[in-house]
Formats: sequence, C-alpha cells, structure tokens
Amino acid sequence: MTFDTMGFSPELLKGIEDLKFEKPTPIQEKVIPIVLSSNHDIVGLAQTGTGKTAAFGLPVIEQIDLQNKSVQALILAPTRELCIQISKDLQSFSKHINRLQITAVYGGAPIINQIKALKKGTHIIVATPGRILDLIKRKAAKINHIKTVILDEADEMLNMGFRDDLDAILETTPAEKRTLLFSATMPKEVARIAKTYMKTPEEITIGKQNAGAENVRHIYYLVHASNRYLTLKRIADYNPDIYGIVFCRTRQETKDVADKLIKDGYNADAIHGDLSQAQRDHVMKRFREKSLQMLVATDVAARGIDVDDITHIINYNLPDELETYTHRSGRTGRAGKSGISIAIVNFREVTKIPYIEKIIGKKFEKLLVPSGTEICKKQLFNLIDRMEKVKIDEKQISPFMETVNKKLEWLSKEEIIKHFLSLEFNRFLAYYKNAPDLNEKPNNRKENRDNFDKRKRQDNRNKRNKSNNNFQRFFINLGKKDGVLPTNIIGMINDYTRNRDISIGDIDIKDKFSFFEVDGIYTSTILKAFKDSKFRGRHINVEIAEGINEGNRKKKRKRK
Ligand code: AMP
Repeated sequence: MTFDTMGFSPELLKGIEDLKFEKPTPIQEKVIPIVLSSNHDIVGLAQTGTGKTAAFGLPVIEQIDLQNKSVQALILAPTRELCIQISKDLQSFSKHINRLQITAVYGGAPIINQIKALKKGTHIIVATPGRILDLIKRKAAKINHIKTVILDEADEMLNMGFRDDLDAILETTPAEKRTLLFSATMPKEVARIAKTYMKTPEEITIGKQNAGAENVRHIYYLVHASNRYLTLKRIADYNPDIYGIVFCRTRQETKDVADKLIKDGYNADAIHGDLSQAQRDHVMKRFREKSLQMLVATDVAARGIDVDDITHIINYNLPDELETYTHRSGRTGRAGKSGISIAIVNFREVTKIPYIEKIIGKKFEKLLVPSGTEICKKQLFNLIDRMEKVKIDEKQISPFMETVNKKLEWLSKEEIIKHFLSLEFNRFLAYYKNAPDLNEKPNNRKENRDNFDKRKRQDNRNKRNKSNNNFQRFFINLGKKDGVLPTNIIGMINDYTRNRDISIGDIDIKDKFSFFEVDGIYTSTILKAFKDSKFRGRHINVEIAEGINEGNRKKKRKRK
C-alpha cells in the first residue's frame, strides 16, 4: 500500500513527501482507510514510535472542511510536550494546506495567550485535558460542533489522574462525533472509557496486545540496592556511546543520581517536576541535540518525550506500577531501530520480573554486571576505534608534525601507542583496578548485607570522628560491673600517659566493657600507657575499637 492510493489531497501528499515517508506503517495501513471511508470508532493498541500520530493525523486533516470556521477535531494528550509534538507533526503534514489552523493548548503556560489564539478561530485543537476543560468553562473553546475526538496515550492520561476531566470533556462533545482512542496498554479504566463513550469500536492492535516494541532487548542485573549507582556507572562505562534515559522513582532520587553522574564526569542531567518549564525545555533541547548522553527522569517528567535513536532505557529501579515499564521501554527501539531496556533490580524486585514479562509478552535476559576488566576492554577498543576513524585535518596538523616527530623520535611505534592509550585510559584502569563483583548471588546476599551494615557503621564513625576533631575510639575491658565510671577513665588516661592535655571525647560505659575516645594523634601513647596496667586488681586491656562491633567484642571476651 502507498500513500498515493489512500485518497489524500495533493497538498497533503506533498507534505507526506516532504517528510520522506515512503510507505504507510502497519498502524497507518489499518487506521487511515477506516477513518477515510467509514464512520467507525477505533481503539488502537499501539505505542509511540509506530507512526500513530500520522495514522490519526493525516485522515483527520484530510476531513477538515476549511470553509467551516468551527473547531472540528479535538486531540487530547497527557502532557504539554506531547501536545506540542502532535501539533508540530500536524503542522508539518499540512505544510501545503494554507488555511488550516491548528492550536495547541496545555497547562503550565499562560491561558490568556491560548484564549487569544482560540479566538482567531481554529480547526483542530490539541490539548491536555485539564486545560481544555478550563477553556471550555471559560467559553474560549467551543467543542460542540466537533466531528472527531482523539484520545492519545489514553492510559497515560488516566494514570495522570485525568479521569474526571476526560469524563467531563467527553460528555460535552456531540453524540454523533467519531472517537479514536490510542493506548499502549489496556487497563480497566481505558476499557471503561471505550465502553462508555464509544460505539462498537474497531479494535486495532499493532504487534501483540500490550507488547513491548519487537526490537527491544530486555535485560536485568541483580544487585544489592546499595550498588545501584555503581551498576549504573558500569552500564554507562560499558556502553561509551550510550544515549539513554535513566528512570528513577522520585524527584529526589532523580536529582541525586544526576548530581552524582555529573560529579563523576558523565554527560548527564535531570528532568523532574521541580524544574521550571524553561529549565525543562533547556534540558530537553540539550538531550534532543545529543549534547547530553544521559537524561535522568521521573516517569511523569518523561511522559511525552519523543526522541528517536535512544539506545538504552535504564530502570534505576522498577516502577511501582508495573505497566509503566512498557512506557519506559517503549522509548527505545523506535522507528525500526533496536534498543535495550535494562532493569537494575535487587532481591525484592526480582520477583516482579515474571509479571513484567507477562505484560510485555517477552522474556528478560539475566546478565551479569560487567566486570572492571570487561569495561576496560570495551573502553580500550572504543578508543582505538575512534582513533582509527578520526578525521585528520592534514592542513592544520602538518605544520606541527616535524616538531612532534622529533620529540617522539626516541619512542618506538609500540611505545607511542602505549603512551597514547595510557593518557586517555589510565583513569579507567585506576578506577576499575580491583573493582568488586557487583552481582548479587543468593549466597552472598547476607555477606553483602553485612558488608553494607559494616560500611554504614564505619561511615557513621568516620562522620563522628570528623566532627570530633579526629578522635580515636578505644575499647577497654572494664565496665559497670567493675565499678568503673567516666571519671576513672579520665583519671587513668591522665595518670598513665602523664599528660593532662590530651583531649578526651565520648566515654561510653557498658556492662562489662567500655569505649572512650581521645585525640587520634595520641593513639600509640594510649596503647603504650595502658599496657600492663591494672584497675582494682584487674588486668586492663585497651585496644583500638575501629571496625570492631559490639557483638564481636562480646564473643571475643567470652573466649578469654
Ligand atoms: P509516532 O508513533 O507518531 O510518534 O511516530 C514515530 C516516528 O515515525 C516519527 O518520527 C514519525 O515522523 C515517523 N513516521 C511516522 N510515519 C512514518 C512513515 N510512514 N514512514 C516513516 N516514518 C514515519
């Protein structure tokens, strides 16, 4: 099938030709003839990336009566970004249809300008539900003569809480209008809308129902939750040409992850609800232009992001609503390209994988987080590859070559290569030297947890030490049962060291033993001073307390 034979006007065909669309995509082949030749409603199960905007946009444009100045089509979409995208797409399809007016109205922008735009008259409105309802109430948008309503990304609109708004809007529209509904998934709420407001719709499914894009690989890494960030770094380092979105669950997490990535020298930024619209636009512009390699985003902020060529979707953790995974992974593998969707999961989350597999109708591959060696190898070959392919500007470089050659005369070709590689590559080698295995295995789960607890305790101690003038913590085998008091310990420190100027920090008297802190520079003085000392006839044992937790200490004492 070709666009030429579908019954479009020459002006519209010219627009399609300008866009270099050669032939209709599967959803266009199915939807366009129904819209052009019948009055049937349509429920289309399709993701973004399938060409659905043109599937509904082209026939709707074709059916607009330009003589009639009233609004004839209303397209509802969940986000401002998507509204703008749809309206831009429609403008480019109809580039050669002079008098067609398309107006986008959405929240987060001054309503006054939108009212002015609507007053001028428009044939097609592209809107977010909340804003159009507001405009209808203010009588700025008149939708009582519309012929077609299109609900795009219906599941997203409902997820975002637009249920009541949608009901209110649909009830205002004329009964004889046609409704086209598009959704990536078909949860109950979407089915309810279809049942309530549509007349025996034709169902069109592109790919499997609820299926993820065919050419997306789904991968998961099983790691301890505390290793999520390190895993993300490894993913980025293992894929030097990554162009991806990292999905986080909260705004705070989004900010934290992006801040860490930026600090660690990655080409990343965040997009979340705390940013102003101008800031969001700025980040999005950089991402679209590929000046940013990684966009860290919340699900809400990422809705409507319509960027082709995304190589990786990274689920920093799994979404609360598992259906959301489909939307996340659907951002890659678009327009016939392949893509990878990676989930970083811990033991608790891994149980959700089978449920997601059911939703997407595809299996996940469980892969191991790349090791330091694997990453270094990948980076090395990437560097060599880039070196091989780099364009040489002979004219600019040749004046320096003589001096450069002279300077490097003493090095063989092999040595020059080694030097050059080390210059670029030492950072990776150093970072990944002795890098631990991040993969979580059933039997090292407890070990990892213990290590994590230990690390946390050590962090707390370090923090305390920092704020406490670098105190060293000591263990002493005297406690309440020995009748020891803080003053006794202070006395012993003063007497045994014969130094009254040593600063003393916390003293923590337990039942059978105690801890005390003194300025770290006196560590060896303390150990020496307490050697062979006694308290009320009992032999005193003082040790550095670092890294020894109380549980171990108790066990150790018992053995004595
Ligand atoms: P959509 O699913 O509407 O977001 O479209 C995804 C991408 O496919 C957009 O970049 C469209 O411009 C492009 N596209 C839509 N229809 C066609 C077609 N028939 N041939 C080639 N590209 C298309």
